[in-house]
Amino acid sequence: MAQQTAPKAGLADLTADDAVIAAAIGEGHLPSLMAAAAQIAGNIDLIDAFKAPLYDFFGDGQGGYDDATRARICAEILSILRGYRDRGCIMGPALSAEALHRLMSFVAGAEIPDRYIPYLEEEMEFSGHDERMPDFSQVPAQTKENFRVLIIGAGMSGLLAAIRLSQAGVPFIIVERNNDVGGTWLVNSYPGCRVDNPNHMYCYSFAPNHDWPQHYSTQPVLEAYFRQVSEKYGIREQVRFGTTVEECVYDEQQKLWRVRVHGADGATQTLAVNAVITATGQLREPKLPDIKGVGSFKGPAFHSARWDHSVDLTGKRVAVIGTGASAFQFVPEIAPRVGKLKVFQRTPPWLGPTPNYHDDVAQGQKFLLKHVPFYAQWYRFWIFWMLTDGILPMVKRDPAWTSRTDSVSAENDMLRELLTQYMLAQVADRQDLAAAVIPNYPMGGKRSVRDNGVWLSTLKRDNVELITDPIAEIVPQGLITRSGRHVEVDVLIYGTGFQASEFLAPMRVKGRGGVDLHKMWDGDPRAYLGITVPGFPNFFMMYGPNTNIVVNGSIIFFSECEMRYIASCIATVLERGSAALEVKKQVHDAFNEKIDRGNLEMAWGAPQVSSWYKNAKGRVTQNWPFLLVDYWQATRRVDPDDYQFESLMGEAAE
Ligand code: NAP
Repeated sequence: MAQQTAPKAGLADLTADDAVIAAAIGEGHLPSLMAAAAQIAGNIDLIDAFKAPLYDFFGDGQGGYDDATRARICAEILSILRGYRDRGCIMGPALSAEALHRLMSFVAGAEIPDRYIPYLEEEMEFSGHDERMPDFSQVPAQTKENFRVLIIGAGMSGLLAAIRLSQAGVPFIIVERNNDVGGTWLVNSYPGCRVDNPNHMYCYSFAPNHDWPQHYSTQPVLEAYFRQVSEKYGIREQVRFGTTVEECVYDEQQKLWRVRVHGADGATQTLAVNAVITATGQLREPKLPDIKGVGSFKGPAFHSARWDHSVDLTGKRVAVIGTGASAFQFVPEIAPRVGKLKVFQRTPPWLGPTPNYHDDVAQGQKFLLKHVPFYAQWYRFWIFWMLTDGILPMVKRDPAWTSRTDSVSAENDMLRELLTQYMLAQVADRQDLAAAVIPNYPMGGKRSVRDNGVWLSTLKRDNVELITDPIAEIVPQGLITRSGRHVEVDVLIYGTGFQASEFLAPMRVKGRGGVDLHKMWDGDPRAYLGITVPGFPNFFMMYGPNTNIVVNGSIIFFSECEMRYIASCIATVLERGSAALEVKKQVHDAFNEKIDRGNLEMAWGAPQVSSWYKNAKGRVTQNWPFLLVDYWQATRRVDPDDYQFESLMGEAAE
């Protein structure tokens, strides 16, 4: 393990007086602060002096220390920080690899397996530099300059691709069909839209933000973050906005991709590029429900991802179809101002207790993130461990578990029981709701939602009704349920999700021999590592098949892994003087067999679960079934043996 050298960029000197520091410590995450203080001190005496933190499922995440112990820990931390400040912000000696490993296990409250160490070392940037920077040092400058990449999409993944290629000095064109950057964070403007991963993890590893206003910030804050990062790295000014890609066709003779784009000026143009990176997202095209009469409603009707802000909902009778992650966020926002709200639920979501879901980040916490070396990294690490690989085992199926169909293992059943009690306690006064809101599928079967009590308290409002009677038909005046009830409304809102299995659609992609990617997939998309497909040389997907996660982690993590891998692919092509690489079919097929076996072992692969993760054939096309560290390991760099290479490079042109 590399030893600490310099703290991460963005750190300010600690000059505040004792009272300010003490107050901030009181608002920080104690185990993370203990680890940072130990690093600053240059020894782990502080860790040795106290028992390891214990994290209770419903606890505050502070380690379970009693008040007296907590006071002693805070005093020790203050003493170390005071010393650091008074020495002129000079760190103590670097810790050994073993000591850092011990700190990780301490903060996690669990033994961190050795295989995580290199990953976490990189993630936490203890070395002081961004180890995920692409390495093109072996590629002659002239070779790079003659290569051109097209990036499709300027959302979170596309911006990342552009940042990495610009750091590598590889020319690129970036197109975006919207009129600004941000992708999903630009388009989803529904009331209450916010991230459901803690923001201190949901940001690029190389662009931390110590000023997140909330732990789970709202859409405008996220949109601003991506815009600011894109401006900082000089990407936004390069994006061709309002530009839609219609078709990508591989020219086998020239070994180029010919890409037809429809520009903002209405003109169609064909670009010739050496490689294509798609960064179009999985949750992009709204899905309207397959219900008789859809489209016949005479009043305003819109999908959550196309929110019609011109419709004033005040005092109106509103129907919402769906109780997924989007509806879960906008229903509580609109309920107080509408007249009557009818929420049509087909399947209830599991609610994950998250008391700080709507809370501001305390000023003291922001102070610590900005002024205490390594605290931001330890805090990010703690979130990572608690919310990612640390919890994956809880949603793994035990083949011997046959006791119930709403859980998949003894551990998963314990979780089900805890969550059931948590939810029932909130509706103890409403037995009608109690029967309706407890899911009958296992926790982890679908994405759970973060809850601080707002959802069920909204459903309990006098003007809100949860309707579980299935919708039989949509009619001009409203909806008719299967039992024959007519529900008249003024506005209809679809919270019915996205056409997630339709990767890359409506764009057409034709590879070697004119093979159409969607026809080849036949509704069953597959890729190697979610990135490359046989027959489609130099065609790379970000957030492609089987790179979504259900319970563990953030998509930014996957995008960073994917882009590092793609950069490694391109660098390898150029180092070899080749034109293109193409994944070997047997490598791709073996990988997908492993993925399918893995998904069948998880709660979301259980036969009793139906969700957007499964395609029409019942196969899980969306999810990565393994640990995050496995994906990181698999994508650190390309293995040239997995690919065949083509010589003779064509000439890129516009
Ligand atoms: P979703 O999770 O797919 O939810 C769609 C909802 O519509 C479900 O409740 C579904 O019921 C219901 N539905 C679909 N067809 C129906 C029909 N014919 N009749 C009745 N109900 C019907 O979509 P989403 O809420 O837009 O979220 C999609 C994904 O986006 C999430 O899983 C998450 O990954 C992401 N997301 C993230 C955030 C965030 O980070 N804050 C916020 C929003 C969304 P069934 O469950 O029975 O199918």
